[in-house]
Amino acid sequence: MKDCIFCKIVKGDIPKEFKYEDDVLLAFDDINPAAPIHLLVIPKDHIADFFEVDDEKIFLAITKALRHLIEKTGLKDKGYRIEVNGGGSQDVFHLHFHLYGPRKRGQVH
Ligand code: AMP
Ligand code: ZN
Repeated sequence: MKDCIFCKIVKGDIPKEFKYEDDVLLAFDDINPAAPIHLLVIPKDHIADFFEVDDEKIFLAITKALRHLIEKTGLKDKGYRIEVNGGGSQDVFHLHFHLYGPRKRGQVH
């Protein structure tokens, strides 16, 4: 979608090092990390938010990508959080799953 920052990343208009890629998804570092490791997993197609997903294959792909990245980054042992913001809590209206850590039990962020 024109003017969508994450669509520009998918198209290569904004250069990024991709940490994961498959047919339907990409992952890259968050530009403003909230933790030492902070990745975003996004669909290549423009899907505005969590409620707009109409193909459950996307959720399967996201689960596979997140598990891969959790293991690859060592967060499986060190602790991680997966987060989706929506509604009034969402800034970028192209679906994205945040993965971040290391994170201790009970930590606020
Ligand atoms: P939210 O929509 O609230 O889940 O947050 C959007 C996230 O996208 C924030 O964590 C931003 O730091 C991140 N972000 C925005 N622009 C970019 C970019 N060009 N590259 C990487 N991350 C970005
Ligand atoms: Zn988009």
